[in-house]
Amino acid sequence: MASRCWRWWGWSAWPRTRPPPAGSTPNFHHHLSTQEKTLQICVVGSGPAGFYTAQHLLKQHPQAHVDIYEKQPVPFGLVRFGVAPDHPEVKNVINTFTQTAHSGRCAFWGNVEVGRDVTVPELREAYHAVVLSYGAEDHRALEIPGEELPGVCSARAFVGWYNGLPENRELEPDLSGDTAVILGQGNVALDVARILLTPPEHLERTDITKAALGVLRQSRVKTVWLVGRRGPLQVAFTIKELREMIQLPGARPILDPADFLGLQDKIKEVPRPRKRLTELLLRTATEKPEPEEAARRASASRAWGLRFFRSPQQVLPSPDGRRAAGVRLAVTRLEGVGEATRAVPTGDMEDLPCGLVLSSVGYKSRPVDPSVPFDSKLGVIPNVEGRVMDVPGLYCSGWVKRGPTGVIATTMTDSFLTGQMLLQDLKAGLLPSGPRPGYAAIQALLSGRGVRPVSFSDWEKLDAEEVARGQGTGKPREKLVDPQEMLRLLGH
Ligand code: FAD
Ligand code: NAP
Repeated sequence: MASRCWRWWGWSAWPRTRPPPAGSTPNFHHHLSTQEKTLQICVVGSGPAGFYTAQHLLKQHPQAHVDIYEKQPVPFGLVRFGVAPDHPEVKNVINTFTQTAHSGRCAFWGNVEVGRDVTVPELREAYHAVVLSYGAEDHRALEIPGEELPGVCSARAFVGWYNGLPENRELEPDLSGDTAVILGQGNVALDVARILLTPPEHLERTDITKAALGVLRQSRVKTVWLVGRRGPLQVAFTIKELREMIQLPGARPILDPADFLGLQDKIKEVPRPRKRLTELLLRTATEKPEPEEAARRASASRAWGLRFFRSPQQVLPSPDGRRAAGVRLAVTRLEGVGEATRAVPTGDMEDLPCGLVLSSVGYKSRPVDPSVPFDSKLGVIPNVEGRVMDVPGLYCSGWVKRGPTGVIATTMTDSFLTGQMLLQDLKAGLLPSGPRPGYAAIQALLSGRGVRPVSFSDWEKLDAEEVARGQGTGKPREKLVDPQEMLRLLGH
């Protein structure tokens, strides 16, 4: 039975390539209502993974209907709450996502938290297949003493704060000290360093929140250290972001040439993107800049530096024990080669005083529902190419599938792959048979629980409100940061 059931949902290849099933009338297809033929798919999360998975399914299956559930009242995940405000071009993917949402076969249901407002088993009951694309909602802890002190915060919370993520809107980081230390050397660390050091007037015409801009205007931070446990050949950031940092108005780089000894020979063997990145670091650390650049650096009032071969051991408290006053770092050396290069402590320690510690050692996914397998060590849903292990009809894509690394383009490729696997399973008859109610069933559950979903056209009203609020000050938008206010504006 199961092996034939995909035909019911009008798999596009079937009517052209196969005769009607034995015993059926020639116009068999016309006897099925649209509702019965519909392939009902649920996607959890409206970031790049959710939208790209939906896009693939809608394009490849003419009878697919995709409902995207999102816990925030607004869509787009890290494109709205992660991507830096001074990188507006990256957010153009929102146009593609909006086109997908406008398809008559796609719906967005915001303000619905899966695992709380509706369970995964309930979704699986209502849909032919469920795709979990809920990203990485947490940060990786350093697990060192003092991490809980005031004055320490995760880069994730800091990014959420300047980007208007509701849960971080009241963070108000203390920028009264002259030095900030960022632990980690990835692109998120560079984003955070850049926002801390960019002259606030350069951020005025971005979508950074009004509150964050106000705090940044009062900032006394002059120096930002980005600390890596390994060396220049192992940094996790990329060349475009490094170049932007080197050219940052009003700021100069601090690199220790000693960290780069012997590197010239080693870079010959590394892949080209890493080679170009390391050459840029090497040039910046060791070569005398052109006179104009030298003058720019000499007059810069702010600075950023990369501290290599230092592994965080403890956040040091202030004398009264009330807040962070520095970081104790273990000096390291490298062991192993290539990808396997590890940082090993030499036994030496170094203290780095600072007023603010930002840990930027990666994001982390959470388990969403007890019925869904979760690998808490790797922080992913165990899966094979997007098929959740041992749970037929359940899929995953994006950061929750492969871990919290990779840019939007990587997420797109991996989401298309998940969509492909789902459609292969459908074709092989591995998905449940017969019609499924989709949103109609979930709407009844949500309404009984007092949950009022936000539709895509609701979001477009909020979007228009944000754009209107930004207009007076020359910003592309002033983000709404309070979910209650958003719901009030929608009359919910
Ligand atoms: P997310 O974008 O996190 O989307 C997950 C969605 O699921 C969110 O909307 C979340 O609210 C929702 N959700 C979570 N839990 C639930 C639940 N229980 N129920 C319902 N919904 C839920 N890439 C680039 O290419 N360029 C950049 O400039 C760039 N900048 C970045 C800056 C930062 C700070 C970060 C962290 C990443 C950046 N990236 C950038 C990477 C890019 O954002 C990711 O590759 C991509 O967002 C991952 O997509 P995702 O859909 O898996 O996760
Ligand atoms: P990331 O690229 O994985 O970098 C994490 C950093 O933390 C690395 O330097 C890592 O060092 C360090 N680290 C991890 N555990 C540590 C520990 N216990 N102690 C000390 N250091 C530790 O993660 P990310 O910066 O959060 O970025 C996530 C993804 O988003 C990346 O793929 C990134 O490219 C992408 N992103 C892209 C952009 C952009 O395109 N502009 C902007 C932001 C983010 P080791 O290498 O030694 O582990």
